[in-house]
Amino acid sequence: MLYEIIKFPDPVLEKVAEPVTLFDDSLKKLVDDMFASMYAAEGIGLAAPQINISRRITIIDLSFQKRPEEKIVLINPEVIAVEGKQHEEEGCLSLPDIREKVTRAAWVKVRAQDATGKHFEVEGTELLARAFQHEIDHLNGILFISKISRLKRDLVSRRIRKMMKNGEW
Ligand SMILES: [Zn+2]
Repeated sequence: MLYEIIKFPDPVLEKVAEPVTLFDDSLKKLVDDMFASMYAAEGIGLAAPQINISRRITIIDLSFQKRPEEKIVLINPEVIAVEGKQHEEEGCLSLPDIREKVTRAAWVKVRAQDATGKHFEVEGTELLARAFQHEIDHLNGILFISKISRLKRDLVSRRIRKMMKNGEW
């Protein structure tokens, strides 16, 4: 099934998500449905709170369906090491059409579980490092617009309010 993507300012996006403790068939089904929902929304990353499920599950596919081996499922993920800095533009399915530059670590190492509960570590640089940090932030109730300057954030809020008023959000 396809889930609707929840948009800012829904409170579920600012809640700390609950850890996953049961690695059963319904979790595997949820992960598959998350990939389908993410592709339908033309995204490369999705966290469960964005479909109104406040649990620590996130998926990434930077190849956007082109290379199945690049599909990443992170359950109960944690950033365990970071290095360097990068400053690049980010977007988010929960904030359509908003793009702002965000400072992130250049390299991160993540420890997580897969859909069967097995622990693993994965590392990434550039866009992948950014995706890890952006998606794990979602599980902690943090949106990328909280990482930009106050001035830019005010401009973004004003733009969103205007779109809401015009029924475009
Ligand atoms: Zn996002």
